[in-house]
Amino acid sequence: MSRTFLIIAEHRDGKLRQVTLEALQAASLAAKDGDSLAAVLLGSDLDGLAGELAAYALSDVHVIETDSLKQYNPESYVDALAPFIDSIRPDGVFLGHTALGRDLAPALAAKLSAGQLSDVTAIEQSGEEVVFTRPLYAGKAIEKKIFRAYPWVVTIRPNNIPAAGSAGGGQAAGIVKHDYSPSKPLRTVIRDVVRKMSGKVDLTEAKVIVSGGRGVKSGDGFKPLEELAELLGGAVGASRGACDAGYCDYSLQIGQTGKVVTPEIYIACGISGAIQHLAGMNGSRIIIAINKDPDAPIFQIADYGIVGDLFEVVPLLTQEFRKA
Ligand code: FAD
Repeated sequence: MSRTFLIIAEHRDGKLRQVTLEALQAASLAAKDGDSLAAVLLGSDLDGLAGELAAYALSDVHVIETDSLKQYNPESYVDALAPFIDSIRPDGVFLGHTALGRDLAPALAAKLSAGQLSDVTAIEQSGEEVVFTRPLYAGKAIEKKIFRAYPWVVTIRPNNIPAAGSAGGGQAAGIVKHDYSPSKPLRTVIRDVVRKMSGKVDLTEAKVIVSGGRGVKSGDGFKPLEELAELLGGAVGASRGACDAGYCDYSLQIGQTGKVVTPEIYIACGISGAIQHLAGMNGSRIIIAINKDPDAPIFQIADYGIVGDLFEVVPLLTQEFRKA
């Protein structure tokens, strides 16, 4: 039996989000010979993005284009996607485990009477089964799951599965446009969406994160961290301790009740390493901890630890990286 997997392509400011290419790779890990992969884009002015996606190994790039889909809202996305999905009947749907994906996946699964699994970090095949790996209990346990029936909807944790590379040789996939008009009056954005930007690099997709805790002592204490993050092309994050103290915005919070990040390098500065913080960053590839307390729990999970004052260590690191 050949199957079709559908990737819901997420984009922002006219660019495909990295996690979309990771979801595409996830779908190809789930696929066997004879299965086909398709993607769908929703929004307005999508010609450029559709052309970009068509260069990947997809059978089709579906485009549902209308002004009412310009800004995400779950009602209109489900309203637009449900009839489309009914028409192509995918066996599996992949989304990024982003704010949009976390909101849309369960709504879509309910509409399609599909099984749903969130925050998948790895995919493998075992015989006829697709096996999904996901963390549980704030990362303390890992479970492997299979679905007993199709269709299913999964979300893929950013920065875990490598992004798909383009197929090469120009456009590979066909672009199929679909008409959409809302089936009923739906909520719309009548003015504009104001988005709080924490930095140039999206925290959940950053390869390097320099994170500050209560040890930074003030808003100004984040300045050396920002400088290091900028030099390394990374983003600044924070513990809840730092957010609660008012040193930075809650949009930077990493942890159980904040963002889950999995960068290549995570530099924790003045963060003690509470379990709730670790839940958001213990999947990072390399963890570097800077703390003046040699017994701080963060050192138990750090690959590299520096016992010292962050206000001395961080500027020194910046100085050395500048030379490199
Ligand atoms: P502290 O624990 O106060 O640690 C500060 C560290 O800085 C210390 O280790 C100290 O040695 C070091 N330090 C001080 N000065 C310096 C210096 N000059 N140089 C170097 N080191 C220095 N926390 C999160 O982070 N994310 C969450 O999502 C989250 N969710 C939670 C959910 C619940 C339900 C609960 C109960 C708690 C949650 N917490 C969360 C809070 C968590 O338990 C900790 O309180 C918090 O992570 C502590 O933040 P911190 O490490 O910055 O502060």
